[in-house]
Order: sequence, then structure tokens, then C-alpha cells
Amino acid sequence: MTRESRVYGILGWPIAHSRSPQMHAAAFAAANLDATYLKFPVRPKRLKEALAGVVALGIHGVNVTLPHKTDAIPLLNEVDPDALAIGAVNTIARDGDRLIGTNTDAPGLVRALLDAGVDCRGRRAVVLGAGGAARAAVVGLTNAGAAQVTVLARRAQRAEELVLAMRSLERGEVISTGNLGEGITQSFESADIVIQATSATLDDQPKALVFASSLPLGSLPKHAVVMDLVYEPRDTAVLRAARALDLRTLDGLGMLLHQGAIAFQWWTGLEPPLEVMRRALEMPT
Ligand code: NAP
Repeated sequence: MTRESRVYGILGWPIAHSRSPQMHAAAFAAANLDATYLKFPVRPKRLKEALAGVVALGIHGVNVTLPHKTDAIPLLNEVDPDALAIGAVNTIARDGDRLIGTNTDAPGLVRALLDAGVDCRGRRAVVLGAGGAARAAVVGLTNAGAAQVTVLARRAQRAEELVLAMRSLERGEVISTGNLGEGITQSFESADIVIQATSATLDDQPKALVFASSLPLGSLPKHAVVMDLVYEPRDTAVLRAARALDLRTLDGLGMLLHQGAIAFQWWTGLEPPLEVMRRALEMPT
């Protein structure tokens, strides 16, 4: 009898840039699994049909990325409470005809910090941004026992909305001190961890340099860790500015690795081959 070959994949638009296929293909090979991971370019209007296709074709699991992370939620049979609070799913498993969604970005961020020896328990964190990555960061940090998470965004109203959505979780203390200009120095002075979760550092454009130089990184305590969730480029303008002040920095590849490793474990029930996955991610796309 031949064993069933499994198919996994990622739905997104555009999707050509995704590093997930190389990471998961390496993991499947290392675990001796007969499984394939494909890129599925899915236009925004075709998401419903694409998810029906996942069920109809017997695909075992998929990741979803931009622009589908939020739109996928009402199309699934079950979504866990943290993903609902974040307002985004990034991983879907098929159980018979049912599709179950979760968000592995939040625990992925926490594992990336732990991997680097940063325990969030009792720490004060500042999250910059109010989009999907910021929401995942807030949920991850509060779940991991952060004492306080302050959210700063260029539009204060978005930070307020994020904080209101997070209050329903009743974990940790999540506060918003308004926009990126107001109160930022005060928030930085008592921060142990800064999570850069805006898209301002994508590419090395002048905008990224202006953004980095607008942050009062010199106000952070000497022991503070600055993490940028953007991984392309890996060494962002914010990380360079923080390093110039002798602050500890972490790039976004760790979170990308761990969100993938958690998805691998959920789909297969196997321990993820972390080092194999890390090496595959570090290879150029
Ligand atoms: P998003 O939902 O589009 O949110 C982007 C956020 O960045 C918004 O709050 C936006 O503010 C803010 N922003 C953009 N340019 C800015 C600027 N110049 N100054 C201040 N704020 C600015 O995107 P997302 O899904 O949260 O993703 C954010 C970044 O995280 C992405 O670039 C992605 O690469 C990265 N990410 C990494 C991982 C990982 O595994 N490492 C996972 C997820 C995301 P407005 O609302 O005012 O526009």
C-alpha cells in the first residue's frame, strides 16, 4: 500500500516573494515526509473559491498571507480566540471538510524572543504600529506575561482601536499613549523591549531612514532589546540605529521561522527541525 502524499501551500497575492515554500520543503525533507508545499497566487476576489478548493482537493493545510489574512476569517469553520482578537489568521488546517484557522505569528514572536534569551514575563514592551503584525505582537507579549504593552502608531485612533480590541483578552496591561510623536520618549525610558511592527522599514528608502531617526532610541535603558519584524531587508534602518547606540537588536527572520515551525508542528504533529528550517530561510529566494 502506498502512503498518501500530502499537499500544503500558501495563498497570497502577490506570492512570488514568499520564503515559506523553501522553509517547509526543507522541513518535510528533514522529517522524511512525503509532502509538497506550493505557492498559490490567489486574487482577493477568489479567496472563497480557493478555500473551497482546499477542501475539494484534499489539501492538508495552508498558510494565508497578504491580502487574505483578515478576509479568510468568516470563510472558516473554526477560528481560535487569539486569532479572532488579532483579526487575522495565517495558518489553516483541514479536518475532513472543515477548515480551522489560527494565528502562529503571536506565539512565533514570543518564541523568537525566547530563542534569543529574552523572557517577556514581567517586562514592559512598546509596540510601534497598529496593523496586523502589531496586533499579533500585543497578543503574543500579553500571553507571554508582559507586565505592560504600550502601543504607539502614527494615527492615534488606530492605536486606540487596537487597545480596545485587546482589552477583551483581559491579560496584562495594554495601553496606548497616542501617536508616534506624543509620549514616545517617556514610553521608551521605561521599556525593556521595543517591537517595530510598522512597514516603515521595508526597503531602504529615505522614508525608512527618516522613520528610524524619528525614534528616541537614545532614551531606552541600556539593557533594552529592539526587534524589527520586517525581514526584507533583514538589517533595517531601525536596527542599524539601535546598534549604533550599543542596544541589542533582533531581526524579523526569527519570528518568520517560529511562526512556520508552529504551523509545521500543528499540521504534522512532529517536532519541527528548527535548524534546517532556519538555514532554508536564510537562503536567497
Ligand atoms: P499593515 O497591517 O499594513 O500595518 C502596517 C502598519 O505600519 C500600520 O500601522 C501603518 O500605519 C504603519 N506604517 C506604515 N508606514 C509608516 C510610517 N512611515 N510611519 C509610521 N507608521 C507607518 O502591515 P502588517 O501586516 O502589520 O505588517 C507590518 C510589517 O511587519 C510588514 O512590513 C511585514 O514585513 C512585517 N511582518 C513580519 C512578520 C514576521 O514573521 N517577521 C510577520 C508579519 C508581518 P497606518 O495605519 O497609519 O498606515
